[in-house]
Order: sequence, then C-alpha cells, then structure tokens
Amino acid sequence: MAPQRIVIENCAVATVDAHDTEYASGHVILAGDRIEAVGEGRAPGGLDGVVRRIDATGHLVTPGLVNTHHHFYQWITRGLATDHNLFDWLVALYPTWARIDEDMVHAAAQGSLAMMARGGVTLAMDHHYVYPRGSGDLTGAIIRAARETGVRFTLARGSMDRGESDGGLPPDFAVESIDDALAATEAAIDEYHDASFDAMTQVAVAPCSPFSVTTELLRQGAELARRKGVRLHTHGSETVEEEKFCHELFGMGPTDYFESTGWLGQDVWMAHCVHMNDSDIAAFARSGTGVAHCPSSNARLAAGIARVPDMLAAGVPVGLGVDGTASNESGELHTELRNALLVNRLGPHREAALTARQALRLGTYGGAQVLGRAQQTGSLEPGKLADLVLWKLDTLAHASIADPVAALVLGAAAPVTASFVGGRQIVADGRLLHVDEDAVARSTREQAQRLARIAARA
Ligand SMILES: [Zn+2]
Repeated sequence: MAPQRIVIENCAVATVDAHDTEYASGHVILAGDRIEAVGEGRAPGGLDGVVRRIDATGHLVTPGLVNTHHHFYQWITRGLATDHNLFDWLVALYPTWARIDEDMVHAAAQGSLAMMARGGVTLAMDHHYVYPRGSGDLTGAIIRAARETGVRFTLARGSMDRGESDGGLPPDFAVESIDDALAATEAAIDEYHDASFDAMTQVAVAPCSPFSVTTELLRQGAELARRKGVRLHTHGSETVEEEKFCHELFGMGPTDYFESTGWLGQDVWMAHCVHMNDSDIAAFARSGTGVAHCPSSNARLAAGIARVPDMLAAGVPVGLGVDGTASNESGELHTELRNALLVNRLGPHREAALTARQALRLGTYGGAQVLGRAQQTGSLEPGKLADLVLWKLDTLAHASIADPVAALVLGAAAPVTASFVGGRQIVADGRLLHVDEDAVARSTREQAQRLARIAARA
C-alpha cells in the first residue's frame, strides 16, 4: 500500500541542506513519516494517496527547530533571583529546587514543552539533574510529558554527587550517591533509549557540571555512555567563576579537565562554552565535541558572549539552547535565532559574526548534529523524517520583509501555522493539538505555588 501523502505548496522553502538550497516558491511532499520530495514550484500532478493538500501561500517552510539545552523543572521557578550571576543565582534557587516532586516536574515539563512546540520546536531535550530523595519517578514524568506533546525528545539524565558537605552548592538531600546516579542513569537508558532512525525518545548521560559532580562521576559516566552507545552532555565553561574553580581545584581550565575525564568526543555536547580560548576551541573541533549555545541565558546571568563565529570557523558543531527557564523566562527557541545573531554581533566579529541563514542553521541542522540526529532530521531532504514548520509571514509583523529567512530570524517571533513531527501534525494555527494549553497553564501555576509554599516552610 502506498504511504499517505501530504502536499505543502506555494510557499518559500529553506531546506538548510548542505548548500542552503532555497525556493522562493516551492513544495514539500510528505509520505508517511518521511520527506519524499522538496522542490521548486508546485508539486507534480498525479500523486497517489494524497490525503491533504496545504496551500501555504504567504509561508516559509523550514526544518523543525531543535533545542539542545534546557531544564524543564525550572518552568515553575521562573522570575526569581532576577539580578544575579550564575553562582549567586544557583545558591538562591537550590533550596527551592531541592523540593520538587513528580507532579511538579510533570507540570513543568508540559509547560516547557508546550511553549517550545508552539514556537516550532520539533526535537526537544531536557537536562534533568535534580533528583531529591523520595521525589517519585521524575524521569517517567518527563518522558510522559514529551509523549503527550508529540515532540521528538532526548532526555539527558543528569546527576549531582557533590552536595553542600562536599563543597558543592546543592543541599545534601538533593544529590545522589555516585552508585545511585549511575544505576538510575543506566536504568533510564535501558527503559527509554531508542536507537532507531525514527526514534521519538533517546537518553544521554549528563552529570550536571564540573562544580556539582565529582571527577569520578564524570569518568564513570563517560564509561557508561560509551558502553551503552548513548551521548554525553554537561555544562562547560559557562562563567569566569567556573574557570577559576577548575584552576583552583584541578590545576587546569574546564576544557582540559573535561579531556582528562574522557569528556571530549563526537558523542559529547556541552552547554554554554562561553569562556573558551583558542586551544579549547581547537580541542572541541579536533574531537568533534558539540556546543549548545544559549545566548539569552548567558545574557540573563551576565555570563558573557560565546565565541560562536570562531567555533563555526574551526568546524565545531553548534546548536541553540533555550536553557532552563529560571534563566530565560521566555522559554522559546524561535527568538533565540534572533538573539544568537544579535548577541554575537556585539562580540569582536561585529556585523560579520553571524548571518540570518547561519542563525537558522544553528537552530535546525546544527541542533540535530549536536544531538546526534543529523542523519534523520534538521534539514528538508528526501528520506529524512518529516519534522518541519510552516511559519506565517504575510501578517503585519512580517509582510513588508521580502526575504523570508530575514523575516523569520530578524523579525518578531513568527506565528506557526503548522508543525509536523514525523508527518504527524502537533501544532495548528499556533495552538497545540495533543495537549490542552489552558489546562497546562493552570497546572503549572498550581504547582509553582505549591513549590513556593513548601520551600517557604522548609
Ligand atoms: Zn543549563
């Protein structure tokens, strides 16, 4: 039986393939969960099994956006510690974060996923590393929320084993022992990681950061990931304070420290990477280590400007990240396209730092590369998964901008008319199709208030 086809036509198309192929007026044909064809003009006639034909006049079609760094649980602690740098912000928030439970995490994950999906994200990730004793099945709650929303998903199963009594920042009851952390991470891989081409759920090994985990957890975490054939993720080189901490404790900078613990490689991606010197960037390029660039969070916490143009020039894979919404309250990825371009132009490369098309590439193909899914998604090419977005560019906000990619990246956050994951539509006219946004809004508010009450009593 021929697969069911969906035809999208009369739209601008930015494929983000290796040649940045674009069509001013083109078409995309979906067959089942795959992209069958992309091309100029209208779709060819005489196709069998067409169940839907979308006249996308006034739209730009792009690959779905890919988010490469987030902490979903922070959705219920937004708008707190608003004038702090990273370390002060962590110290202010850990006592609250240490009180999360399964219901809170499920609501927060739904809120985070809903916000991103509405804005064109089709492949999301969550770096979750706070597992307080007795808090329930947090991993299960996060995976459930991703399945409900319908986005493709990578859970970076995080961990912390350096509590207050070991010189770390989180309270002791919110960290795990090294053995518990590794066993729970392995169990999450066994239960949820799917290595197939069209996987909806993957799992990565993700100790939190050099200052919240021990060297031994980093080392054994890397061994576990390689034994299981999954990816590795952590925070790296985020602030000058972290750099100082690494020099004091380990006698070397963060990148050398990561290298010494097995944490550089094609299967590794790191969030932030703001404070990198030339030899750090060369080490990332040489090893194929990826970067999750989080421009809004870096600005919110006054961390600095990551050297994205230098990383790209060296051949480092770079994607974009929202980061947790306690440091980027908007929780959107489509606005990060713009922020990445603007923030990098404030750096030394000035107007040559990033083009609008490079920003779009960071948010799509670059993200897929960083999450190890570039063979399957991240660009519009025949044979790839049908993960794509129709951006409406003919309204007041964008209609006077002739170049659709410039409109998308530099203009206001564009409305999403439709978003597909594996050929299944998850957004229609800016609304989620598979979860009730109003119900999610109510439950996130309730759980945020519940957490605030519990934290105030503690
Ligand atoms: Zn983060």
